[in-house]
Amino acid sequence: MQVESTRRESPEAICARVFRRLRPRTPPPEISVHFLPYADAHSSACWRDGRLELRISDVLEGAPASVLEALMHILLGKLLRRPAPRVCVDRYRRYLSRRDVQRTLELIRGLRGRKQLTQPKGEHFDLEQIFDELNLRFFGGLMIRPRLSWSTRPSRTTLGHWDPAHQAIVISKYLDRPSTPRLVLEYVMYHEMLHLRYPSRACGGRRQVHTPEFRQAERMFPQLRQAQQLLRRLVQS
Ligand SMILES: [Zn+2]
Repeated sequence: MQVESTRRESPEAICARVFRRLRPRTPPPEISVHFLPYADAHSSACWRDGRLELRISDVLEGAPASVLEALMHILLGKLLRRPAPRVCVDRYRRYLSRRDVQRTLELIRGLRGRKQLTQPKGEHFDLEQIFDELNLRFFGGLMIRPRLSWSTRPSRTTLGHWDPAHQAIVISKYLDRPSTPRLVLEYVMYHEMLHLRYPSRACGGRRQVHTPEFRQAERMFPQLRQAQQLLRRLVQS
């Protein structure tokens, strides 16, 4: 589950600016930018239901706006068949070859290559307990419990994800604190459980992760609005 970041200029705004530069006469589409825990600096852009969707490695989440802008220029350039100017490619490459960024990438490759999974019991919340409760409430107790783990880094943007390779639901360590309302954790866990219940499927050459059935099931969560509001407040605090 992803949340918008609180950067001064949002990644979406940067992307809209790049889009306007490449297509000055076309109004920018709806844009969403997701930072995902890829094991390398892999990034991509695609159209999804008329929306422009960018998936960027979370290694780049803290990159300067100019670097993000250069990367978006490269990605949109590919998508719109307008190759990015040399200066963008250079700026992006230069950032990736920085010693500290290289170290981070190496570290992450190591960690994510063999995926560090933790115990479900955190300092304040027990993921197993939350999973079992939701399983009973919403899935008739029929869902087979996958591996449950806290993330190694306390991410505020990737609060949870389903990792099919390791058959694990991973929840951000950021949420394992006493100030997190339990409802928020339940909602994040419920969302990830729905990924088990409604797998992604190929759709016009792309993978649709949140299918219409998925979205419909998500709306069944009681106190959905409240949970989303609490969550937004929590990641912005
Ligand atoms: Zn999801």
